[in-house]
Amino acid sequence: MKIRKRAQVNRKECVACGTCVGICPLSAINIVAGVFAEVDKNKCVGCSKCAKTCPSSAIEVISGEEVA
Ligand code: SF4
Ligand code: SF4
Repeated sequence: MKIRKRAQVNRKECVACGTCVGICPLSAINIVAGVFAEVDKNKCVGCSKCAKTCPSSAIEVISGEEVA
């Protein structure tokens, strides 16, 4: 078992610019209703590329649930 990392978007900080959507190598992020970004936790591998490029610092990479 290991702790899986994944990105999490702070919706209050997100300005829906779409930068993270373009940079994610796994296409794990979508803009929901043109208002905020949402990460598909089943696709995200926690690489932090989105967090590093977000101009609003709205993305945090956290330790997610344990996976086998
Ligand atoms: S890069 Fe940041 S501000 Fe832009 S859509 Fe993604 S989370 Fe939101
Ligand atoms: S941490 Fe990496 S895999 Fe996860 S959403 Fe961000 S860019 Fe995509």
